[in-house]
Amino acid sequence: MTATAAPYTTVIGLEVHTQLLTATKLFCGCSTRFGAPPNTQVCPTCLGLPGSLPVMNRRAFDLAVRAAMALECRIASFTKWDRKNYFYPDLPKGYQISQYDLPFSSDGALEVVDPKGAFSRKVGIIRVHLEEDAGKSMHDEAAGTGDTRIDLNRAGTPLCEIVTQPDLRSPQEARAWLNELKLLLVYLGVSDCNMQEGSLRVDANVNLHIREPDGRIAKTPIVEIKNMNSFRSVERALTYEAARQWEEWQATKVEMGKMPKQTRGWDDPAGVTRPQRQKEESSDYRYFPEPDLVPVTVSEADLAAARGAMGDPPAILRRRLAETWRISAYDADVLVNQGRDLVAWYEELATLAGDGKVASNWMQQDVLRTLNERGGTIAEFPVRPAHVADIIGRIAKGDFDTSRGREIFAEVLSSGRSVADVVASMGIAAVGDDELVALCRELLAANPRVVADVKGGKEQAAAGLIGQAKKKNPNVNPAKFRETCLELIRAM
Ligand SMILES: [Zn+2]
Repeated sequence: MTATAAPYTTVIGLEVHTQLLTATKLFCGCSTRFGAPPNTQVCPTCLGLPGSLPVMNRRAFDLAVRAAMALECRIASFTKWDRKNYFYPDLPKGYQISQYDLPFSSDGALEVVDPKGAFSRKVGIIRVHLEEDAGKSMHDEAAGTGDTRIDLNRAGTPLCEIVTQPDLRSPQEARAWLNELKLLLVYLGVSDCNMQEGSLRVDANVNLHIREPDGRIAKTPIVEIKNMNSFRSVERALTYEAARQWEEWQATKVEMGKMPKQTRGWDDPAGVTRPQRQKEESSDYRYFPEPDLVPVTVSEADLAAARGAMGDPPAILRRRLAETWRISAYDADVLVNQGRDLVAWYEELATLAGDGKVASNWMQQDVLRTLNERGGTIAEFPVRPAHVADIIGRIAKGDFDTSRGREIFAEVLSSGRSVADVVASMGIAAVGDDELVALCRELLAANPRVVADVKGGKEQAAAGLIGQAKKKNPNVNPAKFRETCLELIRAM
């Protein structure tokens, strides 16, 4: 059942954990590099050995402030650390250092706008806070032994937790919003948001608001979904869960508050959510202020530095590209979604070519397509904006047509030579006027039917000769050829 056809509203809030791009952990000097052999990036502090003391990594704090400011949050001038106490094998200290009642930021928002106009949604951010990551349990590493191993390399890695208001209204919106959040965080340089490596993780809270026949809104119990490993999984899990809650509601009529909040895990291959342990209430964690760390103060200078490091966020860039280069909102979205480096590449091309629309077409039809096929980044791409601008300029002058331009682009790409070199070696030379007129005459003489059609008012018939003309001389510019044929026929 789709959300639009459903007799209910799906209400979704998200909790995102993202690892910050620091070289070292949040409270010790251990490396945060991914993929090292297990338990090689640990020390007494992140192992929680007696007598060790944490020291805050200011770089992690500054990155978190940058993210929170870009999310339009209020930044607290005074913030502190708290211990969240629980026992788990991957948490050697027996507590996690987190932020409880005084998070460093709150009350923000991030809007997502569908480029095709299907929806736009401003999602409130309740809070952004900092905490340390736990280690990782690995089950059944040696097949058949049923063992569990612990890798503590991740323990103590700085995590930014972003909690939204329940403002999203469909699984599609949730996925699009996550894409926008990820893009923003990557633009800010605060996280690589690599879900495969666990540097971005998402939990979702979802329930249904159902309009009863008497007009009252009934709400189903909130379910928290965990274990989603991609944004696509988030969308699928929410779609499944909304349908499941609707069925359960029809059978039981159990409303929110009549049962404790449930946690369910997403089983991706099976495409279903399954019940997990009941969630602890926050009082179970026995939060109390971390005695080994001093509170953090944030000055005006810190805020100014964070603002200076932000750069233009994606939403501003989209608007700027559309206005400056007169391209559609959709085209601006495609370019901005590829990242800051590609936008810079595009703007250089648009400036050199003097035409934003043509530059955008080349970006999407040639540069991006080739880049996707080859892999790698735009910085490593052998064709530069000046090459493409050169090709665009020669097409505009009538030296050759776009399909010829594409062949030249491919040759520049594979050989690394200049456009002028490639043009010379491919024997591409603009066809002289006399030569063109002679060719038109020859083809018109051989095709009296075309002449008759054009004289009868069907000008487009002349285009039917372009294929033959290109066969005789591949350098023929189709537009010029057609124009010349029409002139000759008019003079007949
Ligand atoms: Zn350490």
